[in-house]
Amino acid sequence: MKNINAVELECNLLRVNLTTGAITSELLAEEVVRDFIGGAGLGAKLLYDEVKPGVEAFDPENRLIITTGLVTGTNVPGAAMFNVCTKGPLTDLAASAQANGYFGFRLKQAGYSTLIIEGKSNDWKYLVIGDDKAELKDAEHLAGRNTFETEKIIKDEIGVKKSSVMTIGVGAENLVRYANIQCDEGHFAASNGPGAVMGSKKLKGIAVFGEYKIVPARPEEFRDSVKELVQTILNAPPAIGLSQFGTGMLIPIAYRIGYLPTKNLSEYNWSENVIYDAVAMKKNPAFEFRKNSCYACTIGHCRDMIFKEGKYEGMVVDEPEYEGWQAFSGLIGVTDIAESAMLNRLNDELGLDLKEIGYTLAWAIECYEKGFITKEDTDGLELKWGNVNAIRQLMMKIAYRKGFGNKLAEGVMRASKMFGGPAEECAVYCKRGAAPHIHDPRGNYSVALGQLISENGSIYGAADRSPNPEFGYNEPLSFTESVAHPVLLARGVPKTAFLDCYMMCNFVAVSLPQMMKCLNALTGWEMTVEDAMRVGRRMAAIARSFNLRQGATAEDDNLSKRLLDPVKDGPNEGKALGPIIVEAKRKYYKEMGWNEETSYPLPETLKDLNLEYVIADLYNSNYAI
Ligand code: SF4
Repeated sequence: MKNINAVELECNLLRVNLTTGAITSELLAEEVVRDFIGGAGLGAKLLYDEVKPGVEAFDPENRLIITTGLVTGTNVPGAAMFNVCTKGPLTDLAASAQANGYFGFRLKQAGYSTLIIEGKSNDWKYLVIGDDKAELKDAEHLAGRNTFETEKIIKDEIGVKKSSVMTIGVGAENLVRYANIQCDEGHFAASNGPGAVMGSKKLKGIAVFGEYKIVPARPEEFRDSVKELVQTILNAPPAIGLSQFGTGMLIPIAYRIGYLPTKNLSEYNWSENVIYDAVAMKKNPAFEFRKNSCYACTIGHCRDMIFKEGKYEGMVVDEPEYEGWQAFSGLIGVTDIAESAMLNRLNDELGLDLKEIGYTLAWAIECYEKGFITKEDTDGLELKWGNVNAIRQLMMKIAYRKGFGNKLAEGVMRASKMFGGPAEECAVYCKRGAAPHIHDPRGNYSVALGQLISENGSIYGAADRSPNPEFGYNEPLSFTESVAHPVLLARGVPKTAFLDCYMMCNFVAVSLPQMMKCLNALTGWEMTVEDAMRVGRRMAAIARSFNLRQGATAEDDNLSKRLLDPVKDGPNEGKALGPIIVEAKRKYYKEMGWNEETSYPLPETLKDLNLEYVIADLYNSNYAI
């Protein structure tokens, strides 16, 4: 083992140029690490600095920026995450996605916190980082392999058992705009097509391993603060439920409040939701579940699913998460647990974002059922709700960009615009073309607005729904109350943005003071909770500035017609987001210290956040308001 100080390690950056083959180590300034902490914040800062206006997602000049947090690689619970930032091909704006597993931890063991991948190789390569060296290896033999096969082959070839490998599948090879990055046998960085960008660079995988071990600045204090975190997590009821049942336990709860997405949001009633309830499923003798946790996990909600009977008897797959279950069941009309799990598995092998493929398949099926597209359009596929065979064939066509699949590989917004008319009106998407998470955002305005103002194609922030006298609410805020949500969302964004910089697993619920105590013991710093909130605001401001500089406007903070129109049935029947979003955006921008109309962060806001250099870009250039 080679001991290393946490801050020193967080400053270590490796740059790989796939055009020239050059690999260089660089040092980040400590003040940059202090300002952004790591993860999505550091990624947004590097994206802003390195990807200039006019660079497109698949241009060699685009960057794939992989970051970790200061705590990544320590024994802080759930601290193995990595974040990937790039210019995303779905929105043509910032993309930021995270995954758990082991990769972040092993990257730190290899001696780096951050990787910047630039350029484009002529042939397929994979990157190996370990034992104080890094090299690009030939990967032509891996082209056409799925995500899991690729991981196994790379691991076998490098011969290091304690290594972690991230890979892309055939979807990314074929530049499907929503291809993801897989690591550690089933963890995915998915939103807004980071895998497609990796594919455009002809990088099939990255393997990391090493001997570096982080030594805290104040070891005893750090040990005690980690113990405190673990106790807090173990005593929290949500963690106990997640540990026992997984995120699928949320399905019936979401259904009750009108938050479960069914049949492309065209109708709500879906009584079959009960068979997907994780609590009931754990008692179903047809399946067995076995924990398969990430590094340093205290909760252990990830599981393998073993088929004990039926046509898939003997198969072992990752148990789908809440979103995976719903993407491949209610959203597309499938009502068979085994088939839903196997569609989820196929998607994982192909390496596609389940949000985008879920809403893309659902859109195509609704359009076919309603006669807006025909068998001629679908290459003869009978695209009925729940037709598993047709859905499976269509997923393959998408990944290989064949026939109708070539159109759907562009994502739901672009595909729907190719058909226009009533077909276009069925499409469900946000922000210049990223599908929402697998929820019905019309059933939770915090989530809907979080998607609306998101900088990266995923949900951004969360409103605190606790009783709030300032807004006259003595009870928890209703999920669909429209007045307070935008302001509360803006107040929640700095915290959730900071969590994305800190990089603990999102299922781990601890307080900011506890997190700061731990961070300070690790680094020797004395950062306060207020400092943490400034980090979060800084991240939001620089990500917004990146998007504005790439040509985004406040009008791009929008949702598709299906999401804005009144809900037709279910618990939220008659409620509509359409009439409230203009005012909601204004309130959000104002609360963030941005221009209420244009969403430009105000000069005084940028100055307050140590982002003076951004003022010059936004206000003294062609991009000025
Ligand atoms: S709670 Fe789940 S996602 Fe989080 S670290 Fe544990 S196993 Fe991984």
